[in-house]
Amino acid sequence: MTTDCVFCKIAKGELKADLVYEDSQVVAFRDLNPQAPVHILIIPRKHIQSLDALWDQDANIVGRIATVARDIARKLGISEDGYRLVNNCGEQAGQTVLHLHFHLLGGRNLGWPPG
Ligand code: 5GP
Ligand code: ZN
Repeated sequence: MTTDCVFCKIAKGELKADLVYEDSQVVAFRDLNPQAPVHILIIPRKHIQSLDALWDQDANIVGRIATVARDIARKLGISEDGYRLVNNCGEQAGQTVLHLHFHLLGGRNLGWPPG
């Protein structure tokens, strides 16, 4: 836990968020500034700064995030049409919150390549 990290605060329930899923390892909530009809952020409860800062022994958390994303996509009705699970790592990728998170986006046609 990093005291000034907004996503740690959301994971601890200290900052309000529209939660769609939580368990002992992972929390998922709606993005404050959605870029698609469905835009969910999925984070580990553990403070990990970015994908680049992920230790090998914590790699299972990324697998867990993927299965949680799959289940949320089904629950929110975007799995048939398709969706995107994306991580921005570092400055040039546009990472603004320094707590590992994956964006689950769906509900519209998503362009490629991004940005
Ligand atoms: P990044 O650019 O780091 O990949 O994504 C950070 C995302 O977090 C952005 O899409 C932004 O809208 C979202 N965000 C930032 N602060 C908050 C917050 O306090 N609550 C929620 N729900 N989303 C946030
Ligand atoms: Zn954090």
